[in-house]
Amino acid sequence: MDLNVHTSVMEKVTSLAKRRGFIFQGSEIYGGYQGFWDYGPLGVELKNNVKKEWWKTMVYGREDVVGIDAAIIMNPVVWEKSGHLKAFSDPLVECKVCHRRVRADNDEAIKDHENSHPDEKDIWTDAKTFNLMTEVLLGTTEPKEKSYLRGEITQGAFVNFENVINSTRIKVPFGIGQIGKAFRNEITPGNLTFRSREFEQMELEYFVKPDDDASAKTFDEFKEVRINWYKNLGIDPEKLHFHDHEPEKRAHYAKYATDIEYKAPFGWSEMEGIHHRGDFDLKNHGLKYRDEMTNEEYIPWVIETSGGVDRATLFFLIDSYREEGERVFLKLHPSLAPYKAAVFPLLKNKPELVEKARNIYKNLKKEFNVVWDDRGNIGKRYFAQDEIGTPWCVTVDFESLEDDTVTVRDRDTAKQERVDIDRLQSYFSDRLK
Ligand code: ATP
Repeated sequence: MDLNVHTSVMEKVTSLAKRRGFIFQGSEIYGGYQGFWDYGPLGVELKNNVKKEWWKTMVYGREDVVGIDAAIIMNPVVWEKSGHLKAFSDPLVECKVCHRRVRADNDEAIKDHENSHPDEKDIWTDAKTFNLMTEVLLGTTEPKEKSYLRGEITQGAFVNFENVINSTRIKVPFGIGQIGKAFRNEITPGNLTFRSREFEQMELEYFVKPDDDASAKTFDEFKEVRINWYKNLGIDPEKLHFHDHEPEKRAHYAKYATDIEYKAPFGWSEMEGIHHRGDFDLKNHGLKYRDEMTNEEYIPWVIETSGGVDRATLFFLIDSYREEGERVFLKLHPSLAPYKAAVFPLLKNKPELVEKARNIYKNLKKEFNVVWDDRGNIGKRYFAQDEIGTPWCVTVDFESLEDDTVTVRDRDTAKQERVDIDRLQSYFSDRLK
């Protein structure tokens, strides 16, 4: 029973995401392409807002962090040194009956698939490991040079470690923040954008002096910073928890690690990893730090927070989905909502209402992403805006012509209040803080 309810939430969100222009299947007119997704006009706004909020908290919000934007394709030596060519792999098993492949460590998928062959025993081949790096061939003459699309954005921060120190006045402890695309040859992409072959990450690599106690403290601090970020942006705290990695499940670089997991309709699922990478990466790249004051030289340790932009975007969509009677709405945090407000004239065929509403719309548009709507009746417009999570609807009616006020209707409570037109900007900015 529970499962059916959850499954239907996923189906409803998937259908809404397509219908209203959040997420489209990649290359859909050619039957799609497994593991690739396109963001539509509203999806790109939601995803950009997720990235903006991350940058605001993790880069602008801190004195000890600077940002970079490294290239997607790097010298292949980077991947040799980082260990990805050897160790960046997933174990895969294949069903002997239907040849379906699944990750050997995905207990749920294994069980699910076994249920589809109830009469068969011993359906799986032995596990084989598959490297997740996506190869690309560069150059115009044969043989072309083999390179890779980055499997994680992380290495960009390490290879630029010295550049960042030399070009800024930053000193350990400090962090490098980055947001960008990564690519993985995932064996079983699925659950909409949850596991894709092309996705975006938002990461902080934070460099500290090597010290067990101090680095453990930093690790714990960043766990809190990151889980609070999701909570402050409206994710239900009951659906968030940490999942510590057992030593044998840790990535090849991790000294210790925990995941922030979200209770998705398809089960508790990782949305961000927090890793203590020790000196693994800087050491492999032969990099060191020299403290200018003391002349002391050492290899800093790294605490990493590595979130998925697409997973966060998907979970913000799922978590905000609400049904109240006939009403469907996305209770998105206003900072994340694609449109901050919709502006309507009460009636489309009254030029004086339309003109006043157009002026309000144009003025608000200078500051916020607002949308114009004059189709159908007010009820239909509210319905359409609720469904895409627009926090406020502004209606210009006959009273507006008399006293320069408008009706502002709140998405979550459906309550309306009169607001002076010249107070509208501050009304929204106050609520977007
Ligand atoms: P998983 O175990 O789910 O494959 P991972 O542990 O390999 O994930 P990391 O390498 O720690 O993931 O990457 C950090 C973050 O990048 C993840 O928490 C997730 O949000 C995001 N991410 C990783 N792989 C994918 C993917 N294939 N599609 C979408 N997001 C991803």
